[in-house]
Amino acid sequence: MLPEFDLLRPHTLPEALAMLAEHAPDVMPLAGGTNVIIELRDGHSSPKLLMDVSRLHELRGIRRDDGRVVPNVVIGGGATIAELLTHPLIVEHGLPLQQATAVLANPLVRNRATVAGNLVNASPAADTAPPLMALGAEVELTSQAGSRRVPLDEFIVGVNKTCIRPDELVTAIHWPVPPARSAAGFYKIGLRKADACSVINAAVMVVWDESGRCQQARIAIGAAAPRPVRAREAEAALQGQPLTDDVIAEAAHLAARVTQPIDDIRGTSAYRRRMAEVIVRRLLTGIAQTLNR
Ligand SMILES: Cc1cc2nc3c(=O)[nH]c(=O)nc-3n(C[C@H](O)[C@H](O)[C@H](O)COP(=O)(O)OP(=O)(O)OC[C@H]3O[C@@H](n4cnc5c(N)ncnc54)[C@H](O)[C@@H]3O)c2cc1C
Repeated sequence: MLPEFDLLRPHTLPEALAMLAEHAPDVMPLAGGTNVIIELRDGHSSPKLLMDVSRLHELRGIRRDDGRVVPNVVIGGGATIAELLTHPLIVEHGLPLQQATAVLANPLVRNRATVAGNLVNASPAADTAPPLMALGAEVELTSQAGSRRVPLDEFIVGVNKTCIRPDELVTAIHWPVPPARSAAGFYKIGLRKADACSVINAAVMVVWDESGRCQQARIAIGAAAPRPVRAREAEAALQGQPLTDDVIAEAAHLAARVTQPIDDIRGTSAYRRRMAEVIVRRLLTGIAQTLNR
């Protein structure tokens, strides 16, 4: 049984922001409901007022913004996981995100679940977070006072905690179109091959120079700490280096050191830390093979 609540149904973003300004912090946005409704059903939260944001066309769409020094990919906060999975811009310029959406939940959930919902829910195991962190994404937050952008690395601050204010909505997520000399990937280990929460996941992006040396690397690991984390020491170790087996092994080893995993029903802390190293090594090795092709 669901507890009783009132439902606001704005039709436009300005209308929604006005409702938030009036009722915050006593109103909770509702997008696909794949987290919110379960929390309600299980008695883990009991908001008296929900605001359905699924009709806001301003939150939809996936596009390329060429009006910047570096073009950006922009996805609306209300874009569904299913839309991301098949969109040509995501396949071309957001491969780790596309790979993550392919293994997030199941087709029924993917049709409803949104990227904003995944990020605001801020599960340590949220599958869209590490790929978006590897891509260098920023979250666009909008209230009646205007919009601000927060790097995704800073947006999620703890288990189910973000820096979003009660009167803000996630209106979009932006990341720079990756340069031609770059490659990226995502990998997830779950207890089943499909429809399983991540036991551990990671995403990696590498940009290389003309000589094939690493110019920039981003490594993000999920389900291994209270929030998805960047492996900055490992990234620094790759900088200026060729992607040899030894360099990759050292970076993977350093990456696993940022994890603070827990023991739970899905896996032990030791298993998660070991698999973080294995996944990062495999992803980097795959990128090195792309480079040498
Ligand atoms: C069977 C099942 C399997 C699942 N498997 C996975 C999985 O493998 N990997 C994974 O990562 N997740 C998984 N999930 C979790 C879930 O599907 C995702 O977290 C989903 O992306 C949440 O999106 P939503 O639109 O349903 O969010 P909702 O449930 O509507 O909202 C979630 C949170 O986000 C807030 N919110 C939503 N939209 C906005 C907005 N635009 N601005 C501000 N706040 C907003 C809500 O207030 C709420 O706090 C699974 C869920 C189920 C039910």
